[in-house]
Amino acid sequence: MIRILTFLSLVFLWTSCSEGKKSQETMNQTVSKTTNSEENFGIVIHGGAGTILKENMTDSLENAYKEKLTEAITAGHTILKNGGTSIEAVTATINIMEDSPLFNAGKGAVFTHNETNELDASIMDGATLNAGAVAGVTRVKNPINLAEAVMSKSQHVMLSGVGAEEFAESQEIELVDPDYFYTEGRFRSLQRIKEKEKTQLDHDSAILLEEFSYKDSKFGTVGCAALDKNGNLAAGTSTGGMTNKRWNRIGDAPIIGAGTYANNATCAVSSTGWGEFFIRAMVAHDISAMMEYKGISLQEAAKEVIQKKVPDLGGDGGIIAIDHEGNVSMEFNTAGMYRAHMNAKGELILGIYKDE
Ligand code: ASP
Repeated sequence: MIRILTFLSLVFLWTSCSEGKKSQETMNQTVSKTTNSEENFGIVIHGGAGTILKENMTDSLENAYKEKLTEAITAGHTILKNGGTSIEAVTATINIMEDSPLFNAGKGAVFTHNETNELDASIMDGATLNAGAVAGVTRVKNPINLAEAVMSKSQHVMLSGVGAEEFAESQEIELVDPDYFYTEGRFRSLQRIKEKEKTQLDHDSAILLEEFSYKDSKFGTVGCAALDKNGNLAAGTSTGGMTNKRWNRIGDAPIIGAGTYANNATCAVSSTGWGEFFIRAMVAHDISAMMEYKGISLQEAAKEVIQKKVPDLGGDGGIIAIDHEGNVSMEFNTAGMYRAHMNAKGELILGIYKDE
């Protein structure tokens, strides 16, 4: 009996030791995985793509853009560094750019043909594929916050116009008088475009006029894509659309798959450019889909879409994107794109023009 009992105790001891070893191993794996992903977070932003040429820029304006981009990306990076979510980083970063008159989003939104401002925004969570978007809002100070509320607090993905603003009120999202969006520079841009439009009309057809109004309206949308310490991706985009837009025109920025897309399995993307073409090419989703279906890298997918598919259709613009490993792409086919990237180490890359 004693022998049997001793044998049983030895068996018990042996099993619990090996169990202990196993759970220790599992823990180490988890720890090393956490350590890995903790080192692996990042953020990338754009402030619009278009005819941005050094010869048209003053040193002080260039510095103002660089300072704002740095402030915005640092805010998002700090959130990620402190363990915040990619959604939190994306909204906080975009808020800073929306509050600046430098960008065509929030405060600096461009004017419509009717001299009003109509704002669009969208956000997507790569972990859940949940998304929120708003289009044609005229009183929402930070449209990205409303898009986030649509995503997290409503059963819908996209709200527009007056209804979207009623929802904003119900969620206590900050509303402002439409005059808040008046900036002299943007108003003058509209007048210049309208003037040229008139001259153009005297000489050319209405079709040419259409082309002209869109091609020459400055881009300047803002966007952000982030990977957080938990490996979750998110992307967001906010814009005033295109100068001189009419008929409640809506671009790609609030369209999930065109202006914004995020999927933890692939990447998070925010677009900027001639929205009609970005909608037709489903730019943001196409980049993710090419990674998923073809098994190619983010860089290859972004190149294919921005340097081939969009220009082949006749459009222009760019994207910023980050993949689930923290690799980043800032691809554009225009003369410039305001852009910045900060990796987990806090190393910053800033750019405005093509060859830098
Ligand atoms: N994509 C935006 C739109 O078409 C414009 C921009 O990116 O600046 O509304």
